[in-house]
Amino acid sequence: TFEAAFQWADFRKNSDGLVPVIVQDYRTGEVLMMAYMDEEAYQETIGSGRMHYYSRSRRTLWLKGETSGHFQYVKSLAADCDMDTILAKVSQVGAACHTGARSCFFNEITRKEYEETNNPLQVLGEVLDIIRDRKIHPKEGSYTNYLFEKGLDKILKKLGEEATEIVIAAKNPNANEVKYEMSDFLYHMMVLMAEKDISWEELAAELANR
Ligand code: AMP
Ligand code: ZN
Ligand code: ZN
Ligand code: ZN
Repeated sequence: TFEAAFQWADFRKNSDGLVPVIVQDYRTGEVLMMAYMDEEAYQETIGSGRMHYYSRSRRTLWLKGETSGHFQYVKSLAADCDMDTILAKVSQVGAACHTGARSCFFNEITRKEYEETNNPLQVLGEVLDIIRDRKIHPKEGSYTNYLFEKGLDKILKKLGEEATEIVIAAKNPNANEVKYEMSDFLYHMMVLMAEKDISWEELAAELANR
């Protein structure tokens, strides 16, 4: 539970008595979704550390994730300059969107040409999140679930094989093959991280300390 510097009475509500909430991934800043809070949702969020909203369609308090398991753990809440909007930074389990998309904002309206860049930290974080989610919500035909079912020895065997394949591929002057094997290795390492309950934050802390 959190100490709150602002009370519900401090907010400027919209005409429905609600305050819009913009929800961001606390690690990457990715905008995940937008929803509304009423007073009850605000109090429940601060009291529980999990995002609660007011569902306008169902006209009721809504704990995000209560049916999907896709909870949002509060990392920080901030109000904007004129106290009419809340920004929430959260640790998102699985997908924020009920369609299964990580972010609700996939309906592209327009775009100016620019280089599409993949942020390495974001991608590694997202892949590990998906792997962890497979553990909680097994998916038909999932190779990741196959590895979890076979257990630790199978994961370690694959990891060892992939390490060896990196070594072999690195002898090739063309770098494409080794990139492929390194990606395979990282994926299997993240399966091991999920199996051992190790986070990227813990690995980063260890590396930063060296
Ligand atoms: P959940 O809170 O994830 O268990 O989902 C419960 C219900 O809330 C879903 O069936 C949707 O109707 C709705 N819902 C979940 N996530 C969103 C979202 N990001 N935006 C709007 N509605 C949502
Ligand atoms: Zn504002
Ligand atoms: Zn899930
Ligand atoms: Zn959505």
